Amino acid sequence: MSFLRGGSRAVIFSAALLAGFTLGCKSGETAGTAAGAANPGQPPFMSAVAGNPPAQATDAPPAEKTGGFDGNRAYEQVAKQVSYGPRPTGSPALAELQNYMIGELKSYGCAVDTDSFSADTPAGRLPMKNILVKIPGEKPGIILLGTHYDTKRLENFVGADDAGSSTGVMLEMARVLCGQKQPRKYAVWIAFFDAEEAVNLEWQDPDHTYGSRQMAAQMAASGDLPKVKAFILADIVGGKTPHFRRDPASTKWLVDLIWSTAAKLGYSGVFVSTPGGPGGDDHDSFLQRNVPSVDIIDLDTASDVPYWHTPQDTLDKIDAKTLAIVGHTILESIKEIQLKK
Ligand SMILES: [Zn+2]
Repeated sequence: MSFLRGGSRAVIFSAALLAGFTLGCKSGETAGTAAGAANPGQPPFMSAVAGNPPAQATDAPPAEKTGGFDGNRAYEQVAKQVSYGPRPTGSPALAELQNYMIGELKSYGCAVDTDSFSADTPAGRLPMKNILVKIPGEKPGIILLGTHYDTKRLENFVGADDAGSSTGVMLEMARVLCGQKQPRKYAVWIAFFDAEEAVNLEWQDPDHTYGSRQMAAQMAASGDLPKVKAFILADIVGGKTPHFRRDPASTKWLVDLIWSTAAKLGYSGVFVSTPGGPGGDDHDSFLQRNVPSVDIIDLDTASDVPYWHTPQDTLDKIDAKTLAIVGHTILESIKEIQLKK
């Protein structure tokens, strides 16, 4: 997302670094365990960027208390992503993560579609891949959930919160929803977008949201787009002092529905009434095509997420309880949207 439109702290991922990272972080070396950062055999580059694992992760409440959504499992999915190191679009690490995610989703019994495409970027033409889980419904209509899973092309940047957290939430969401056997009215689709992040340091059109623009265009072409009742995007949802503000650019009735659902669940201190938006994110790709859309995001870089787009966005910043609150709120909001005509 675009909030700071660049910044002086970050360094553009160089070709030389990419080469080193290709050599230093081949699949299998770090991808085998969620605790990859602690592996003694790990290349120095990777242990430097993966950050120290937290001495003790904060436990989420038991899944029964959060609608079946297991915040600790979501946390483990964040740890797993971070273990691959930096994961910018087109990188070998991202390809490894894609394979992991597809295998994981299939293991939950999810039907998984992938869309491999490529796009011209400031770094040349890059391969990209969207991953889409489709859980069928009985009536025409789709509730779409989304996250991006690429990390920004910055030196030593592993993106635990951006976008490990929301991707962890959506993987756990898929486990819960694909495992539910009772029929549902509207289908629920879960989109994992590639290439949300701008390839350049600055966020300038059209160098961002490649994956979501691709999926929105594909769904328009297939005729699925008008069936989407609501699109719920999550991005940067794992911090320890979360405050999700009401994005003025998001669709008002959908913001109202989610924030009032959160309040009913006792989360009004997290889903706060203050306005505030990201100024650019994957929901724009759907808003521009008149799909009701909302972004759940904490981009308060002054206090909540000072590590945003810096090498400090590491696993120790992630709170399993926050992931559980977000997952629970989205699960209950889906039930509310299922009641709508
Ligand atoms: Zn970002």
